[in-house]
Amino acid sequence: MLAPLPSGLLATVESHLTALGTSFGEWVGYSLLAAYIMLWVWAGMVWAWRALRKSWTDRDGASRGEAARHKPTGDSSGLKPSDSVETLPKEVRSPASPRAPVAELRVWETVDALVHDHQPEMIAISLQSGSNGNCFYVQSNGTGVLVDAGISGHQAQQRLARFGIDIRSVRGVLISHEHRDHVECAGIYHRKFGLPVFMTRRTLIAAKKLVRLGPFRDVQFFHPGEKLEIGDLVIETLPTPHDVVEGVAFVISNGKKRLGVLTDLGHPFEQLGAVLRSLDAVFLESNYDPDMLRRGHYPPDLKARIAGPRGHLSNRESAELLSLVGAGRLRWACLAHLSGENNDPGLALATHRRVVPPSLLIAVASRHEALGLLEV
Ligand SMILES: [Zn+2]
Ligand SMILES: [Zn+2]
Repeated sequence: MLAPLPSGLLATVESHLTALGTSFGEWVGYSLLAAYIMLWVWAGMVWAWRALRKSWTDRDGASRGEAARHKPTGDSSGLKPSDSVETLPKEVRSPASPRAPVAELRVWETVDALVHDHQPEMIAISLQSGSNGNCFYVQSNGTGVLVDAGISGHQAQQRLARFGIDIRSVRGVLISHEHRDHVECAGIYHRKFGLPVFMTRRTLIAAKKLVRLGPFRDVQFFHPGEKLEIGDLVIETLPTPHDVVEGVAFVISNGKKRLGVLTDLGHPFEQLGAVLRSLDAVFLESNYDPDMLRRGHYPPDLKARIAGPRGHLSNRESAELLSLVGAGRLRWACLAHLSGENNDPGLALATHRRVVPPSLLIAVASRHEALGLLEV
């Protein structure tokens, strides 16, 4: 049982409050109101901090619980850790605006402009790529497919229309894995434009736990490693060591040309070199600059996850892979899935240009808009 307050103390407090023109009851009321407001302010700050942490995580992948593993090999590209924008050759410095597309190869404005010039075997467009949302378009002999659905239905429709492509003509949407930046708008593409969606069954289950996909009339399920046929296109699905239930990357072929859409790769796993050597062109993940990531403001566990064996490929890892592949069949590489916080298009290009043969042309996909139409 609590001891009662000494009557002398209570009387002294009351006399002071009376002197201030406030009764004891009013004082208690104001105190409770102040405490109530402070509680809500505190709750708001906690909510905002959690939302910020979640947005960091969503932009760059899934659970940080699997983050703590480090890559077995570290940086083996031969590039010095001190490489920075300041030390780069002038011609490959970062563009004035980080939003500006970067490309060494010819990009076409519309399908008609390209077809007017010559008949292409295969065309490809990065409608957007980055840890904020991914969507690629690939077309051959009139069969068009989308890889991933990380931008809104409106954006996908508008950006395709700019090239003279009707989104309703797309024959399928291929989903690489359940992270938000790849799957978020798959349901909208399916319901609004009637597009068939292809993904693994486990990816669908996992995606439904992470994002609000809405209902699907049907989904074309495949197993990682399986080949899909959509019109004239054959699509190989390559299992990836990314931190998801059943991640895949894609190689899309029409019998003559082979294009890779290789993002969210975890680390440079063994088969990647052979896959790259078999391609005519590739969208290849080049997610972060190791120095920018190390110096950046991400929480340590998220940094470890991104750089870990089930996270993302760095500029150096991507550059080293392409330098090993060399100038064989591969004609161009478009660097993709750049981080907004831990990378820069000019720096990504420069890191590659240092080690990749000059005959292999490099472009950098934009995080904010379509890059332009590329011929495979
Ligand atoms: Zn991912
Ligand atoms: Zn991603």
